[in-house]
Amino acid sequence: MALAQQPNTSNRRMPKKAPIARFLETWLGAPLHALEFILQWVLVKPTRWFWRHLDSLSYKLEGTRLRKVLAHTIFPFTLILSFFIGYRLVENGITSLTLLGFVLLPIIFGLYCAPLERLMPYSRKWLEGGNDTAVDIIMYFSGAFWSGISGLIVSALFIIGIVEMLEPYGHNLWPDDWNLIIQVTLFILIKDFFRYWFHRALHEIPALWRIHAAHHSVERLYWLNGIRAHPLEIVSQAIFYAIPLALVQPSAEVALVAVILQLSIGIFQHSNIDLELGWWEYIFSIGDNHRYHHYPDKGIGDSNYGGEFIVWDILFGTFHNPRDERPHDNIGIGTAPDYPMTVAGLYLAPFLPNQKTVFRAEDDVNELPATAPKLQPAE
Ligand SMILES: [Zn+2]
Ligand SMILES: [Zn+2]
Repeated sequence: MALAQQPNTSNRRMPKKAPIARFLETWLGAPLHALEFILQWVLVKPTRWFWRHLDSLSYKLEGTRLRKVLAHTIFPFTLILSFFIGYRLVENGITSLTLLGFVLLPIIFGLYCAPLERLMPYSRKWLEGGNDTAVDIIMYFSGAFWSGISGLIVSALFIIGIVEMLEPYGHNLWPDDWNLIIQVTLFILIKDFFRYWFHRALHEIPALWRIHAAHHSVERLYWLNGIRAHPLEIVSQAIFYAIPLALVQPSAEVALVAVILQLSIGIFQHSNIDLELGWWEYIFSIGDNHRYHHYPDKGIGDSNYGGEFIVWDILFGTFHNPRDERPHDNIGIGTAPDYPMTVAGLYLAPFLPNQKTVFRAEDDVNELPATAPKLQPAE
């Protein structure tokens, strides 16, 4: 029975090997550092102290029938509940209740997932993350801001002419009279097809990997950090989606239910809840699928690109989830173990030349002589 490791109390800074970036991180990022510090003491520490009281209960739950039942049912239950909530929020059109629901849903998901992670953790090491949660909260709101900016950029770009030309065709193409569940599934499947290829390009094209590295800088997976993305990724993805989405024009109600389902699947993609997902892992990009995706070794990590569905990976040969093993919990960027963890550091990192030199740890195990003992992966 392993006890949870004690976390670092501060986020790793830009390495000294990059003095200019470190200077910018310190001074331009000062307001962000202050915000990280405030969030850490006002929100993160008190809530984590509260959730820690569930740890003793989690040991009692280990090996019980109740835990097994929960492990099998939590995901399908949440999926059905999310669809039902989405349906109720839009059944009378888009109202102020719909908007209120959207503001409250991430908080409700957090209040639901955070205790479950404590009660049934996949990795006890991942329960403690220093003050990474403060960074993730800022990244969540900055992500919403950059999504808004993306919309403006797409509108302002030359694409607008093409989008305007295509949109009427899109309205005619979409099967409005089909069942709501089928329309929502179809919409997410189509969107995910483009997410698959965009995500694959982010991994396989070195210049794009620089901007996606912010997402892979996380050293643990938990319900909130699936949203961690560099602004350049958010903006470029919006531009990449602009033309295909002009041809896929479901009603606003279908799009909103789809967003709620994407939110709930996205939370299970990163959540540290030890679930028995079985064949769900052959439909959705959740559980072990995404744990392998965050492996530090790109030989394994360059797989399972799906945003919500995993079917595109199965179809295009990038699915990785061996039947007879479970993924370990040592994740991160193998070639960049010193990648910064502050908000300002994450923003600046893609622009640094010589990434492999700057972000490689001084005590990189690969630098040791072949006879030296290698680091052992955690339990
Ligand atoms: Zn990725
Ligand atoms: Zn991820």
